[in-house]
Amino acid sequence: MEKIKMQNPIVEMDGDEMTRILWKMIKDELLCPFVELNTEYYDLGLPYRDETNDQVTVDASNAIKKHKVGVKCATITPNAQRVEEYKLKEMWKSPNGTIRAILDGTVFRAPIITSRIKPYVSRWNKPITIARHAYGDVYKATEFRIPGPGKAELLFKGEDGTEMRQTIYDYECAGVLQGQYNKDSSIESFARVCFEYALSTKQDMWFATKDTISKQYDQTFKFIFQRIYDEEFKEKFEAAGIEYFYTLIDDAVARVIRSEGGFLWVCKNYDGDVMSDMVSTAFGSLAMMTSVLVSPEGNYEYEAAHGTVTRHYYRWLKGEKPSSNPIATIFAWTGALRKRGELDGNNELMAFADKLEAACLDTIESGTMTGDLAALSEGETRVVNSEEFIAAIRAELEKKLA
Ligand code: NAP
Ligand code: MG
Repeated sequence: MEKIKMQNPIVEMDGDEMTRILWKMIKDELLCPFVELNTEYYDLGLPYRDETNDQVTVDASNAIKKHKVGVKCATITPNAQRVEEYKLKEMWKSPNGTIRAILDGTVFRAPIITSRIKPYVSRWNKPITIARHAYGDVYKATEFRIPGPGKAELLFKGEDGTEMRQTIYDYECAGVLQGQYNKDSSIESFARVCFEYALSTKQDMWFATKDTISKQYDQTFKFIFQRIYDEEFKEKFEAAGIEYFYTLIDDAVARVIRSEGGFLWVCKNYDGDVMSDMVSTAFGSLAMMTSVLVSPEGNYEYEAAHGTVTRHYYRWLKGEKPSSNPIATIFAWTGALRKRGELDGNNELMAFADKLEAACLDTIESGTMTGDLAALSEGETRVVNSEEFIAAIRAELEKKLA
């Protein structure tokens, strides 16, 4: 069989520990034998980030801006223990944080569903994708511990001299105080990226805030979303047969649980933080969760939602063959290849991505899977290590490509 060609490159970001091992296995067994892989390679493994003073992360982010599509392996975010372990010059920042800051993106997280693993919420039979507004609110709040009686005020001084001032509370005892902010420009680009994502995946979009209580702050989110929907997306949504639905956050939570899934749930920053952990746990496994960062300019960065699976890596170093699950990392690759194909009009590449995903799911459906899935799976299973699992997926893939 002739290998599939790629006109334009994907930005490839290698990573750390067990996922770095899986990365190589996936390329060697599932990609390179079938695709003339065209990537621009950046080594985001911690030793090279340290060697380049983290410049490699910045370079990779700028490369995504240039080529529009990237795929990233999980990476270590250093803490004090890692600084010691890797003898780092500095406690480098989270690569994902750096990439997000440079691309100004929104993260969409979606579970990979198989009939073998039943979600804890039995009605959910389609994926629920969560979009989190990763800007402002409590994550960038200013807070004080108030030592004792006194008056707290909220004060805004405009550049043009306007002043707004209001008493927050007259403290009669010690307490706490917090100031939060957000910006129309950030909310607007968040709204646009979400509407675009719903359109491109043909899913209904839900959005919720607490606008009944927060009549300026949360209501601004509601109004901006509604305005952008009416002005830019209403006709496109109607043509695609999908819906934009706004409700209160409490109502949304209740409806999500009663739903069958199959929609995009757009969340404010804190709601997205908390609810994405709830939804991913309820769908079964972090190892079956993909994540894509989409920027307002239309740049896409795909990755697995899990980390570098450190405990498995230490066993690998001792010569063991751990049963780490490569599915989310494979789906990061297929997401990037499909998007590359879409942007370049490369149908063969898109079809390959579909077949590789189907091969993964068929392998699991047939009962061959890694330990983490077997623990959640219904029916008879054959637990294999990562190498054997990838070999089984390759056999399925070859059947589909024949
Ligand atoms: P983790 O790597 O996601 O692993 C947590 C545990 O979840 C593992 O020990 C394993 O459980 C299970 N698990 C996760 N992915 C799995 C897979 N593919 N196959 C099988 N089991 C899987 O999270 P962590 O241990 O908190 O973090 C490890 C490192 O990853 C840290 O240095 C952190 O900074 C980094 N991290 C990176 C990213 C990213 O790059 N996006 C995200 C999160 C964390 P058992 O050991 O019980 O089998
Ligand atoms: Mg969280």
